[in-house]
Amino acid sequence: MSKRDYYEVLGVDKNASVDEVKKAYRKLARKYHPDVNKEADATDKFKEVKDAYDTLSDPQKKAHYDQFGHTDPNQGFGGGGDFGGGFGDIFDMFFGGGGRRNPNAPRQGADLQYTMTLEFKEAVFGKDKEIEIPREETCQTCTGSGAKPGTKPETCSHCGGSGQLNVEQNTPFGRVVNRRVCHHCEGTGKFIKEKCTTCAGKGKVRKRKKISVKVPAGIDHGQQLRVSGQGEAGTNGGPPGDLYVVFNVKPHEFFEREGDDIYCEMPLTFAQVALGDEIEVPTLSGKVKLKIPAGTQTGTDFRLRGKGVPNVHGRGQGDQHVRIRVVTPKNLTEKEKDIIREFAQMTGGQPDEQNDSFFAKVKRAFKG
Ligand SMILES: [Zn+2]
Ligand SMILES: [Zn+2]
Repeated sequence: MSKRDYYEVLGVDKNASVDEVKKAYRKLARKYHPDVNKEADATDKFKEVKDAYDTLSDPQKKAHYDQFGHTDPNQGFGGGGDFGGGFGDIFDMFFGGGGRRNPNAPRQGADLQYTMTLEFKEAVFGKDKEIEIPREETCQTCTGSGAKPGTKPETCSHCGGSGQLNVEQNTPFGRVVNRRVCHHCEGTGKFIKEKCTTCAGKGKVRKRKKISVKVPAGIDHGQQLRVSGQGEAGTNGGPPGDLYVVFNVKPHEFFEREGDDIYCEMPLTFAQVALGDEIEVPTLSGKVKLKIPAGTQTGTDFRLRGKGVPNVHGRGQGDQHVRIRVVTPKNLTEKEKDIIREFAQMTGGQPDEQNDSFFAKVKRAFKG
């Protein structure tokens, strides 16, 4: 089951003050404290209440929760295609809460999930993007009642408005009573004599809705953003669900990203690393000069501070790492080969053993 909304857990409004959150927490904590409450699920409920309080009482955590929701991407979705989830509510409606839930109570709409593909740099710098999602919205003609304007839905006479029927069956073991969803009203507890023609009595219509999403700078592949109130419409006047945008960030041909740091590899010639040089390195925000000291080895990592990705939670900026790769020349001319042979003779044809511990290790390995 998906994690419950923290505001719902504490029963407070999204604009509730810290005091109101505290008050709601104290009341529920007293009710579910395992020392007091001996019901089987009291411990779980107490933990849930405490988690909600820990998040909503801390302004920073609250802001983060409002923007990203429950950050574990495995929670709350049905997974699969671009649009998942939303079945929790339907399940709850018919079978949840011991089957005694009032079908006429306001219920929050289902959450939606949308996968947004971003270019590498769009994720780094952020962007306003418009998306179009198919979702259920409250029918404007009947304002969600499903009844023709001027008429009202009536209470279902078969189930008395509970949305459920007791079905008795005779079995070899005796008489069994089963609770079933009332098929006359499909569990809604209501009967609509004259249906609204716009929504055919459903109270909701499926629409493609354009939503503009503010993609924050520094968002990374697999992370999600919560767009509050943009999920499916609620039932019986309940609030709408939320829209969760999950990001799929395309790779870049030169830059690689790990968290807030950027990695790239610069090919250099033997002459450049042996003699030293000043080179230009591309970064996400333009070219930067980098001094290569004489005697730089292949694999050396230079760090360009602050040239990485801005942290999505506003905690500073990453670095760019430039890894040096020395390129061995190919297709040498005879003259070039002669010069290199001459060079090899001058240096004895072996790496400088005294100055390089790696080659010293290799030499010791040969001696056994
Ligand atoms: Zn019924
Ligand atoms: Zn309608």
